[in-house]
Amino acid sequence: MLSVVIPAYNEEKMVPIAAERLHEILSGAGITHELLFIDDGSKDRTWQRISQAKQSVSQVRGVRFSRNFGKEAAIFAGLKEAKGDCVAVLDCDLQHPPEKLLQMYALWEQGYEVIEGVKTSRGRESALHRFNAKCFYGLISKASGIDMANASDYKLLDRRAVDVLLTMREKHAFFRALSGWIGFRTTNVEYEVQERKFGASKWSTRSLIRYAISNITSFSTAPMQIVTILGFLMLVVALVFGAIALVQKITGTALGGFTTIILLLLFIGSLLMISLGIIGFYIARIYEEVQDRPRYIVQTRI
Ligand code: UDP
Ligand code: MG
Repeated sequence: MLSVVIPAYNEEKMVPIAAERLHEILSGAGITHELLFIDDGSKDRTWQRISQAKQSVSQVRGVRFSRNFGKEAAIFAGLKEAKGDCVAVLDCDLQHPPEKLLQMYALWEQGYEVIEGVKTSRGRESALHRFNAKCFYGLISKASGIDMANASDYKLLDRRAVDVLLTMREKHAFFRALSGWIGFRTTNVEYEVQERKFGASKWSTRSLIRYAISNITSFSTAPMQIVTILGFLMLVVALVFGAIALVQKITGTALGGFTTIILLLLFIGSLLMISLGIIGFYIARIYEEVQDRPRYIVQTRI
């Protein structure tokens, strides 16, 4: 059986369409399936729509969070609840074309365990967003050693891969990168990002920045190493200036230098604060992991 995990946050218009389309495509190909909608604490009628979809498509299952926990949490809840021999994850807005599931499923039948959806284009996005995404994925790719430039959350995973992902206890799991990190027999399926029909993207600039910081800190300690490198650079500068100051003192020409001192003070001060901030992000992550709160809280299931 194929489980399809569909995170949905304020997708009341898309839930019925997604349920019908997926059911049509999968039953048309004779694939036994379940459609697992995760209502990530929606504020609209998403949950009612999921219950209604259940009446026309019996393969529908629903899990409702007690509040909004974010897409990563929804995906992991889906992996946990899924009963299938393989599990696919796709967006409720159908920006991930569902027809590609058939191709992914065929690859799974051939023995592949991790089938990654790879974007051929990023769809319609502003130039700034594109640039930011490029920087973010550049960093993450370096940190994880996996090329993530066109990675997405559209994937099909074998039961073994799912079980491995579920053993990971980190609260801030980054699904997109972890699925590559775990290894297994992997292949890619290219797809074209579709236009969203109803509703709006859930990402604000603020939430994207938070998302980027959270994922970078969970996959890379490079920012903290940069702090060390900066420290060494400052040491070199300090030695040079120190030497100059000593020579001036000895030769009796030490005078003025007020501007230099002010500039150095400000410069070092800001570097110190930025460094402390970077370290702070990691301490915050450690704190959150130590608190060991659950990734999500389920309110109801159908
Ligand atoms: N989503 C979610 N929880 C959230 C935000 C988004 O479950 O807090 C779901 C959303 O319903 C959709 C998917 O994640 O199915 C992708 O969201 P969206 O389309 O807003 O992102 P984009 O396609 O713009 O990257
Ligand atoms: Mg979308």
